[in-house]
Amino acid sequence: MPYNEVRTMLEKQKQGQAVLIDLDGAKALSELIQAMGHDPAVISVADLQRIAERLAAIARKDPPWGWRYLRNVLNWKIEASRKLMDAIMRLGAVIDETPVELAQSERVTVQALGQVRPGALVLADSRPCANPLCGIEFVPRHPRQVYHAARCRGSNHRGHKDHRDLRGVMR
Ligand SMILES: [Zn+2]
Repeated sequence: MPYNEVRTMLEKQKQGQAVLIDLDGAKALSELIQAMGHDPAVISVADLQRIAERLAAIARKDPPWGWRYLRNVLNWKIEASRKLMDAIMRLGAVIDETPVELAQSERVTVQALGQVRPGALVLADSRPCANPLCGIEFVPRHPRQVYHAARCRGSNHRGHKDHRDLRGVMR
């Protein structure tokens, strides 16, 4: 059978069936996941759950969708509901346009101890630790924090004492 005829038959077979919508939902969700910096084929349950909850928040769906539902849509096992498709399109549109704060921000490498997700917008300035022997540059938890850790306050005081001791010895 010529290729063209096979294709026509397949199209006729699918016409009016949910299969076509189903494939579109999987494609749209797959593209959204990629736009959010993940690989749909290997995305973790936690990341997929986070996306499911974000989509649910947009759709005002309570209880929210779960990662399994998204996984099934991705794998063409379940058809995406109209509500989910709508949320995917809306989140996709938001992600495509860069917010002004992100456009003004600068991409730098940080060493995070707190919960800082990749690509997070850090609003605070970093500062050098007030302990001159430390040299760590940190983003403070509190505006008045001058030492990166409590031990630096301690060692800085010891530093002063050592300095005095040294002067005493030199005299
Ligand atoms: Zn320090």
